[in-house]
Amino acid sequence: MNRLFGTNGVRGIVNSDMNVNLAVDLGRAIGTFFREGEVAIASDTITSADMLKNAVVAGVLSTGLSVSDLGVLPSPSLQFAVKKTNYSGGIIITASHNPPEFNGVKVIDSLGLELARKDEEEIEAHYFRKSFRTSDWQTIGGTRLDNRWKDEYVQGVVGKLDAESIRKAGFKVVLDCANGAGYQTSPDIMDRLGCEVVLLNDEPDGRFPGHPSEPTPANLKDLATTVEKSNADIGIAHDGDADRTIFVDENADFVDGDKSLALMALFVLKERKGSVVTPVSSSSCVGDVVKESGGNILYSKVGAPIVARTMLEKKAVFGGEENGGMIFPEHQYCRDGAMAAGKMIEILAESGESLSKLISKLPEYHLQKMKVICPDDKKEKALALMEKSLSTKEIDKTDGLKIYGESEWVLVRSSGTEPIVRVYAEAKDKSRAEELAKEYADILKDAVEQAS
Ligand code: MG
Repeated sequence: MNRLFGTNGVRGIVNSDMNVNLAVDLGRAIGTFFREGEVAIASDTITSADMLKNAVVAGVLSTGLSVSDLGVLPSPSLQFAVKKTNYSGGIIITASHNPPEFNGVKVIDSLGLELARKDEEEIEAHYFRKSFRTSDWQTIGGTRLDNRWKDEYVQGVVGKLDAESIRKAGFKVVLDCANGAGYQTSPDIMDRLGCEVVLLNDEPDGRFPGHPSEPTPANLKDLATTVEKSNADIGIAHDGDADRTIFVDENADFVDGDKSLALMALFVLKERKGSVVTPVSSSSCVGDVVKESGGNILYSKVGAPIVARTMLEKKAVFGGEENGGMIFPEHQYCRDGAMAAGKMIEILAESGESLSKLISKLPEYHLQKMKVICPDDKKEKALALMEKSLSTKEIDKTDGLKIYGESEWVLVRSSGTEPIVRVYAEAKDKSRAEELAKEYADILKDAVEQAS
């Protein structure tokens, strides 16, 4: 069976692999999967949003389901709407943090979570076998517009925060919407939290004239400069669909995503003890903080949908990834960029300390990444051979091979999209991380050679 869904939905280059024909058939497969009722749909600001959305909608309608169009919204807003109502499910047209020539389709279950893999497989089976349900003319579906969710979501996020304390603190924030969907809701949320807001790239524009939509240090130079110039307390940046948030501190220094994740875990655990879920690739800085705070750290496979589902199963109190994706279960089981931003400001208000000060107290680790070329069909064998050659060590096989040492670890993991296997090595100092990465990359190279 071929695969259609990657780690975060179906993605591709517009009018090449991600084209109208695929979108219509995917819509038919999605409608066949949900069987009945009404499906909610939304998109980010990407230029191909209308083209793909209309094609997917046509496919869904042909199966007899109805579609409710929520317009341009952050991905978590659509997920919030699906969670709060009795939609059969949801569809998000988004390229997320990818360049403007990309686009993608994400499918949301009736609880508001990204689909479980077994459900994706069912949609893939309908798609590849072309086993679509087809409605007759009497029961064919229709569309309606539902524009309530911008406000409902803003209220939903603000209602989960200590808005009064935040208002009292009177923060100045710089908010970079990356010309993406966050412009719809995040400025309003900051406003309602009584923040003085300086906005950057808040015009919706899927060509991303401000900067590429991935919140990396290189793409957030304007944000850092503006934080410095305007004497702001914090800089906040979303990716294109605003499910992720990355921060810049009051000194205009970029805050690594694993540090903001660890800081958030620390504050969540002050209020509620429990489990925190993060992928095996996350820094030990998160695990250390969780253990010191009396929490339980649970490692999952890589991918936000898997983190969310593990959190639901294990009743975790918090979870997330090092890329700025944070999940607050009392709000909803998906990454939520606005909620992450609001919670971080709440931490500043509650602690009375600056972001740089809070970050400086967290454990420090260094991560070194390397990649080894390996054909897709040899990956499994190469990893098995590598595991055998490491038989004396403790190996965690949650996702790839993770080898733990004293205050250090190495993760060897196949890429899902490229013919490479990645080696991540983390240690207390940089030279040790580099040494470890090289050592294991050499072992991996030998294994790849043997497998070929
Ligand atoms: Mg995203």
